[in-house]
Amino acid sequence: MALTPMMRQYQEVKAAHQDALLMFRLGDFYELFFEDAVTASRELDITLTGRDAGEAGRIPMCGVPFHAVEQYLERLIDRGYRVAICEQVEDPKAAKGLVQREVVRIVTPGTALSKETEQRFLGAIVESDKHFGLAFVDVGTGEVLVGEAAAVACQDQLRLLRPIEIVVSTGASVPSWLDHFASSTSTLLTARKSGPKRLLEEQYNVASLTSIGLEESKASTLALLLALTYIDETQKMKLRHLQDPRPLFRNTHLTLNQTAIHHLEITETARDGQKKGSLLGLLDATVTAAGARLLRSWLERPLCQETEIVRRHDAVAFLVDDLILREEVRETLRGMHDLARLVARFAFGSANARDLLSLAHSLVKGQAVIETLEATDAPDLISSLIEQLPDLMPLALHIESSVVEEPPVLTRDGGMFRSGVDDELDRLRSLQTSGRTWLRDLEQRERERTGIKSLKIGYNKVFGYYIEVSKANLASVPAEYERRQTLTGAERFILPELKEREAEILSAEERATAKEAELFQSFRDRVLERRTDIQSFADALAQIDVIQSLAHVANERRFIRPEITSSSGIDIKGGRHPVVEAMAPGQFVPNDTRLVQGDHIIVLTGPNMGGKSTYMRQTAIIVMMAQMGSFVPAQRAQVGIVDQIFARIGAADDLGRGQSTFMVEMIELAEILRQSTSRSLVLLDEIGRGTSTYDGLSIAEAVLEELASRQEKPLTMFATHYHELIQFSERFPAVRNYSMAVEEKDDGIAFLHTVVTRPSDRSYGIQVAKLAGLPPHVVRRAQALLEARESTGESSALDFAAATLEVREVPVEETADAASHGQDRAAPSSELALFDGPYRSFAELV
Ligand code: ADP
Repeated sequence: MALTPMMRQYQEVKAAHQDALLMFRLGDFYELFFEDAVTASRELDITLTGRDAGEAGRIPMCGVPFHAVEQYLERLIDRGYRVAICEQVEDPKAAKGLVQREVVRIVTPGTALSKETEQRFLGAIVESDKHFGLAFVDVGTGEVLVGEAAAVACQDQLRLLRPIEIVVSTGASVPSWLDHFASSTSTLLTARKSGPKRLLEEQYNVASLTSIGLEESKASTLALLLALTYIDETQKMKLRHLQDPRPLFRNTHLTLNQTAIHHLEITETARDGQKKGSLLGLLDATVTAAGARLLRSWLERPLCQETEIVRRHDAVAFLVDDLILREEVRETLRGMHDLARLVARFAFGSANARDLLSLAHSLVKGQAVIETLEATDAPDLISSLIEQLPDLMPLALHIESSVVEEPPVLTRDGGMFRSGVDDELDRLRSLQTSGRTWLRDLEQRERERTGIKSLKIGYNKVFGYYIEVSKANLASVPAEYERRQTLTGAERFILPELKEREAEILSAEERATAKEAELFQSFRDRVLERRTDIQSFADALAQIDVIQSLAHVANERRFIRPEITSSSGIDIKGGRHPVVEAMAPGQFVPNDTRLVQGDHIIVLTGPNMGGKSTYMRQTAIIVMMAQMGSFVPAQRAQVGIVDQIFARIGAADDLGRGQSTFMVEMIELAEILRQSTSRSLVLLDEIGRGTSTYDGLSIAEAVLEELASRQEKPLTMFATHYHELIQFSERFPAVRNYSMAVEEKDDGIAFLHTVVTRPSDRSYGIQVAKLAGLPPHVVRRAQALLEARESTGESSALDFAAATLEVREVPVEETADAASHGQDRAAPSSELALFDGPYRSFAELV
């Protein structure tokens, strides 16, 4: 089928980019054709039109204006598409025949600059000998992280950093679990020839990889190489703003297993994945985007070294104590733009003069914050942060004095720089000005000469400058006027001297805008030359923002400074769960937690809804907060540094992963038993409930025995409904029995939410069921069954066989009872009517 030459060109380009939508530049538009057009018009909600493509007839087409392309790209990327941008690579005016076109970049979810301020990682993974090398690159901020570890640890990192796109090498085997982690997994299709070392050394401009902490031929280095190759091939340029790689795995951070991250609701709620309602949501009082990102990373990676943690506490304490200083810092920081992102825009070549100005203003603001703090007696962390900072003021002031106050969005039309910045520009501009004055004079002169008062000089792209005379005055037009265009009410003429001058004015204008573009380019280069300095400046201010945020929240929520000790063990007085407390201020009941070696296991009993999981969670959260450098919700807290937190609380989402709840629970339990150390905090909630009672009880008991008696004894909180486990403390002195206090009343129970140092003697399951709105006759029936079981002997709570025999006699009585309450079923009692469904959880009802 013969296509037009242009459509043939399109087909060739498209053939090389099958996996991307192709945006094909045609004049002022990017056009999409065929299937791509159908997809894009649907996703972008733009009109689908058609184009004559030669013998193929009309084909589907849609397009977006070139100046608005970024917003459309963002929408496509967000929906998981990759987009190849095909540009005209020669001036259409100069082209002989068909304009040459080439794909200049491929925008992919992981390599695109996005407007979001959160981190957005491109991941790369390389397998080597049962180990995996991982690399993460955030092109938006230039952050680079690398490391290698076994599958489980890699999975944890992937869960934590949530890369939006993962690159794997062509032909390499891909671990099956990888699919869970990326919304789009892209395969690198072309392998690059240059050796690993060269590309990395070029990127970082170093002679040896060791100087940036990399070792040749390690899986982590290969993963970074893979990521950079991918960026190279999609962006078709070096990203000069990428920072030195930082290690992903180090023993310097408190790590959390996946369920812990999820169920402690650290960065998002378990129910709907929102930041609001999570610990991060509560703690975030940062005022800059970079601060918000850093706070999240502090929270996700709490520290493990005492001195580092104490340095943070000192800094936070300093700003907690000085309200005026804190407010001043907050207010000044507020005006700062996201420097890391601005630098990225310069590196990508997408920055404009407004970005230049934002950068300068932000540097000035940042400097003001630094000067405010310099004038104080700030503790070590803050003072060492600001001491080392590079002086960026000359750059900032140079920009501020060069760029006009409200520069245009586009960098190609001029109007960005003030006069006095560049002699040549000033000269060209004065030529333009004198040209314009000349035009005005000419207009005036011609009006007088011809006597046509309405005569005016105008300009358009096709005819250039012209003189316009209305129809009524045509008789007075002098002979030397040359007619060029006829309109309904007027005619347009030119004069030779007007045309001569026109060339001069236009060329001055053209040269002036070219000069401005050149000047902008030199500013861009200057910014990029200082990129490392700007990044460290930005990083220091982000830290200051995080510190002020922690201080601000500590003050608002009455948090106290925890004491960090080098010995193992946790001792918390009056601890609170900050998020649960915030939901009902003033109603939270504080509780103590003491877990030290020798006393390192708490067996926690008490009814559902009694507050067991809140109590366990608050302990973990207080430890995390303390180790990230924050103050904590307690009256007093001593925290011996914890290396890992394992939590097995709740199981709501296991089903979604295609494994049974019980299986997931056992896999996690295995991980906990294998990896926990004496420095770990282990929270277990109702272990073994997913199988038969005897199985479950036996597993729970064996696990407890192991935790109580083995060499590495993690600090453990063990919530259970198996009252049999209470006897454990008799065999193991390290075990303490705690329970959640309950007040029994005539018509049921009330939860006191107080932890008491004795076991609970009952489960109150039936009372809780009643509170939850189980129909009264079912509650009564359950009560009867329970009593029947209990009457068969003390040990019979588990003895189903015996209980069942007894129960057989109950139905007669129960049937009569149920019949006399028949209306209960037909029309719900008032108690039931309160709830629109009997099984809603208690939390929703209160
Ligand atoms: P359990 O794990 O024993 O079933 P939860 O810890 O889920 O109980 O607590 C149930 C509800 O009780 C929570 O949603 C919370 O509203 C409330 N709660 C828990 N602990 C406290 C406390 N210490 N003070 C006040 N309310 C609490």
